[in-house]
Amino acid sequence: MFDKSHTAFARAKNLIPGGVNSPARAFGAVGGEPLFIDHTEGAYLYDLDGNRYIDYIGSWGPMILGHAYPPVIAALEAAVRRGTSYGAPTEAESELAELIIACVPSVEQVRLVNSGTEATMSAIRLARGFTGRDKIVKFAGNYHGHVDSLLVAAGSAAATLSVPNSPGVTAGAAADTIIAKYNDPAGLEAIFAREDSKIAAVVFEPVCGNMGVVIPTPEFLRALHELTQKHGALLVCDEVMTGFRLSLGGAQQRFGIRPDLTTLGKIVGGGLPVGAYGGRKEIMQHVLPAGKVFQAGTLSGNPLATAAGIATLRALRESPPYELLEVKSAKLEAGLRAAAESTGTSHWLARVGSMLTLFFAASPVTDWPTAAKCDTARFGRFFWQMIHRGIYLPCSQYEALFVSTAHSDADLDHTINAAHEAMQAAG
Ligand SMILES: *Cc1c(COP(=O)(O)O)cnc(C)c1O
Repeated sequence: MFDKSHTAFARAKNLIPGGVNSPARAFGAVGGEPLFIDHTEGAYLYDLDGNRYIDYIGSWGPMILGHAYPPVIAALEAAVRRGTSYGAPTEAESELAELIIACVPSVEQVRLVNSGTEATMSAIRLARGFTGRDKIVKFAGNYHGHVDSLLVAAGSAAATLSVPNSPGVTAGAAADTIIAKYNDPAGLEAIFAREDSKIAAVVFEPVCGNMGVVIPTPEFLRALHELTQKHGALLVCDEVMTGFRLSLGGAQQRFGIRPDLTTLGKIVGGGLPVGAYGGRKEIMQHVLPAGKVFQAGTLSGNPLATAAGIATLRALRESPPYELLEVKSAKLEAGLRAAAESTGTSHWLARVGSMLTLFFAASPVTDWPTAAKCDTARFGRFFWQMIHRGIYLPCSQYEALFVSTAHSDADLDHTINAAHEAMQAAG
């Protein structure tokens, strides 16, 4: 069933560390070997052996409109004929900036970069440059890309592989990072009481997706806002995953929060490498060459990447799919819940909009310590049972599953039936 993927992986392992260019793809948390993909369309992935899967990764978030979405492909085809990179400004960059600013409530100016990692790295530098302070608060289990100073108690691949601190991250780089507990307003207050005017910024995932989906409490969101305001620190909302997914204006619009800086990625590039950071104009004016905080990129604002981003954001703005996604995702949630209940599977199911995680946990998951109690071996068995039934889930318990507009009712029904069988088989 997987012969060609097996051969391709053997070749890749000799050439690329672990055979993959990003560890989350390696299936390390579920055992076995990764599937190599030949092509995609709509809700489906096709592997080298010709197997078709209903895809719930969506390239780990970007493909909210499904794979090979025709308007994005058309925009790319038109853009590519005009050349692939200019290293000089284009009107497309302003157009993408305009769309971002129109959609995301707190963003008045925005800088385009090439990944979510670059966006958070740059936002942190800007927060430090703007405030003249050094320390950053981040939450255990939140992932903000592989930025040295943020690669401490990070979720996702780092959590899965149990490397809370990567070798190569110096004590110096981590020394100015303070780890707090998610959903713990009193803990955050204690940190501010102790560090006060040393804290440049608090960076957070407004719905955590990188320890599986963990939902913030209203009290936590209020504390983030009030404490940063009171102590003169910036609130950096990492919407790389939630931006344009939980609503057109992201989690901040959905929850009515107003961060100082916002980071974007994933959907903003429509499947091409784009990240962005933006916020209050007064702060963004400190970025070079308007201000003195250095940040640059040879391929930033690339014409192909901006074309895909513009086509995606235009489509989302012209006919917002969020009600439709809510209906589809609620159906999937109800089906998975019923499957877990009827098979006697201990579970905690968290969903916000089209982000969902079914935790194999006996008690609620509200932060990293509770997430860490999941039965990850059972998840691994469930994952493979689903693969054998043509369903491609995120290959780790600590990731969010994404629903796209391309998932049909029949796809969801098939998934729910498969989950029922897979839970039984996974024991
Ligand atoms: C994916 C992600 C990142 C990193 O983005 P990359 O494009 O992979 O560098 C940062 N923050 C959050 C919340 C993410 O989900």
